[in-house]
Amino acid sequence: MVDARPEVRPAPRLRVIFLGPPGAGKGTQAARLAAWGKVPRVSTGDMLREAIAAGTDLGRQVGPLMEKGSLVPDELLIGIIQERLLGKDCRNGYILDGFPRTLRQAQGFETMVGGDLTEEMLVFDVEVPRSELLRRLSGRRWCPTCQSTYHVDNKPPRADMLCDREGAQLIQREDDKEVAVARRLAEYDERTAPLIDYYRGRSRFFRVNGYRPPDAVFQELTRIAEGRA
Ligand code: ADP
Ligand code: ADP
Repeated sequence: MVDARPEVRPAPRLRVIFLGPPGAGKGTQAARLAAWGKVPRVSTGDMLREAIAAGTDLGRQVGPLMEKGSLVPDELLIGIIQERLLGKDCRNGYILDGFPRTLRQAQGFETMVGGDLTEEMLVFDVEVPRSELLRRLSGRRWCPTCQSTYHVDNKPPRADMLCDREGAQLIQREDDKEVAVARRLAEYDERTAPLIDYYRGRSRFFRVNGYRPPDAVFQELTRIAEGRA
């Protein structure tokens, strides 16, 4: 008997890399895009902060580096990502937020997933002027329980400095203070910005203006992801 059901196509996979300096809005957009595409957001910053909070060996190793705004060694990050992407929830895709951040990491990732997948990846380079980055980072507040992010002016919590979800006291990340921010921006310029050229020729690369309201940025990202831009 001929099966008259329409062909069931597997959903297209959504695999995204977010480039862009600290404060560009990667985390904000990655979370929205993950919910939209029903794939996990894989944030290396969140994973490392969880390890610190849990007091694991990894956490003890990376804590002092993160606090002063230095990047964590490539091998550690490549190992973490390799293990995370084996998760069942990553089968239909994932949104990488904060990885890769160096050429070594990008090459490690390419070895992990192969050249074909690298070609299929959507890479968003979110651009924001430096003065705005400083304003966003100095005003960013964070829930140590659920890792939600707020901003004192742009996205304040409903109740004064308490997490909308957890009710926990919001705090400023140690690395969002001035000295560490300067180091993070320098690390970005030196080690992460070269990835723009690396991915431009290798993936579906898009430069996105992040200096707009979050909704406008998100609309553009979804248009691109749907192949409408
Ligand atoms: P990143 O992950 O790139 O460091 P975040 O998503 O954490 O950036 O955003 C940095 C800060 O700026 C947060 O406090 C966030 O609430 C705020 N923010 C994010 N996107 C925008 C935007 N489009 N306009 C204004 N503020 C934003
Ligand atoms: P941001 O919101 O500023 O982009 P993240 O939360 O992504 O910051 O990262 C915070 C810190 O975690 C970085 O400054 C670095 O110390 C460490 N880190 C996160 N991802 C990586 C990575 N891919 N390679 C090296 N260090 C990383």
